[in-house]
Amino acid sequence: MSENISVLGLGLMGAALAESLLAAGHRVTVWNRTPSKADPLVAKGATVAATPAEAVEAGELVIVCVLDYPAVRQVLEGASLTGRVIVNLTSGRPSEAGAMASWVAEHGADYLDGGIMAVPQMIAKPGALILYSASQTAFDRYERTLAVMAEARFVGTDPGMAALLDLAMLTGMYGQIAGCLEAAALVTSAKYPLKQFTASLLVPWLNAMAALQVHWAEAIEAGDHATQVSNLEVNRAGMETLVAAFREQGVKPDLLLPLKAVIDRRTARGLGHEGLSGLVEEL
Ligand code: NDP
Repeated sequence: MSENISVLGLGLMGAALAESLLAAGHRVTVWNRTPSKADPLVAKGATVAATPAEAVEAGELVIVCVLDYPAVRQVLEGASLTGRVIVNLTSGRPSEAGAMASWVAEHGADYLDGGIMAVPQMIAKPGALILYSASQTAFDRYERTLAVMAEARFVGTDPGMAALLDLAMLTGMYGQIAGCLEAAALVTSAKYPLKQFTASLLVPWLNAMAALQVHWAEAIEAGDHATQVSNLEVNRAGMETLVAAFREQGVKPDLLLPLKAVIDRRTARGLGHEGLSGLVEEL
């Protein structure tokens, strides 16, 4: 079914979202602070609105994707939101999502907050995911429409939950990036071909390790950090070796040292028999 949808914010992400909705046959009205960014979308059939208020009026479903939450507020301030469903796909903190949900409700609209787990090039392609939280009613009503942009996953009625899980997923990613950068520095210090190491050794190893995370999650939920694999004392000794080897190679282990510090703290408290999952208790 073709819907009237408005997209406010046509940066790299907003433009990709609007384009996917146009390609799916929806009637799309667009607005951007810098008007020229609407031109390629108008060429593909979008209608351009002169103001955010005009854009909000044109769409029953209003998607906002701008830099940050203060910008969302600036954009929506003054528009009549009554009866609309506002889907905010701007990145932010859980508390900002909660405040936005209340503000939108005060203005008579239903609210979905979203966390985009994709880059613009992935939108409308397999592998793209958007997490949604806040109004279950709004999600149920528009799930099929939202799924045009990316797999749509509702994660709860707490408005901040999508933002929190988005940040948690980014956290896992940054941890992996930190380890991979240290590994790259170590491998290149020995003049071993880095691409070969990464493709044939590191990536398969990380994939095998990633599978263990679900077991760790079970252990953390159960508060049971007993391990049959390698306890914290073994990991503490391993970290000493790692850091010493880095220094011998002339490489700074800066991104590993915070993890080492937490392992040291936990073992110093006499909990070296536990597995690595126990470190979560220190955070
Ligand atoms: P861009 O920098 O490409 O675009 C930013 C957009 O915000 C532009 O449309 C800009 O308008 C608008 N904007 C900024 N400040 C204001 C303001 N005060 N009032 C009105 N409009 C404003 O960023 P992206 O499109 O890449 O990102 C948008 C959101 O999507 C961000 O929250 C980002 O974290 C999130 N996101 C982006 C991803 C990505 O890979 N790009 C991935 C996941 C989430 P103007 O054109 O006039 O400058």
